Amino acid sequence: MREFYEDGVAILEAIKKKRGAYFSKRGWYLVGCEVPLLIHPHPDYKTVLYKGFLDVVLYNENTKKFKIIDIKTSTKGWNDMTKKDETKQMQLILYKKFFAQQFSVSEDDIDIEFFIVKRKIWEESPYPVSRIQEFSPASGKVKINKATKSISEFIETVFDDRGKLKDKKYDPNPSKFNCMFCPFANKKELCDKALL
Ligand code: SF4
Repeated sequence: MREFYEDGVAILEAIKKKRGAYFSKRGWYLVGCEVPLLIHPHPDYKTVLYKGFLDVVLYNENTKKFKIIDIKTSTKGWNDMTKKDETKQMQLILYKKFFAQQFSVSEDDIDIEFFIVKRKIWEESPYPVSRIQEFSPASGKVKINKATKSISEFIETVFDDRGKLKDKKYDPNPSKFNCMFCPFANKKELCDKALL
């Protein structure tokens, strides 16, 4: 706990020191922090609601665009594999879609960004290493449609037409990555397919 606390303090100090570089005041307005989203993600499932809280939402009066920022803590930052993880990207892409729906804003007027804060940086590095990494995944129509299809399929798979959870057995989908975080991984009686 102490180590996490100290990492958190170091992250906050780094952000405070460089806040002007990451959050310009010129033309930018803070729309809100923890901005709530509550929306029906599937038109045929009226009892299923998507609830989320957007970490930071900004508005730029020059471009007339919103920017949704999702803050992620990471041990050493995101590598290429993490950036390419579409499941991770879909969270923010769906935020964009649902924010547009909820506040009647065009999707074209919303940018998205992961603001990644690193718990550890290489102290011995011969060049300066930033504690902060920014990453804006592509979020055009193709990506939004893909994310919409993915969440729709999920809803259709797990809920019946009255919005109740279906009582069915799902096939395991083992992978080193999936199983690493799965609470069933060390419980053979729940899953005997874990890849550890
Ligand atoms: S441990 Fe089993 S249930 Fe969990 S992710 Fe792996 S395969 Fe899936």
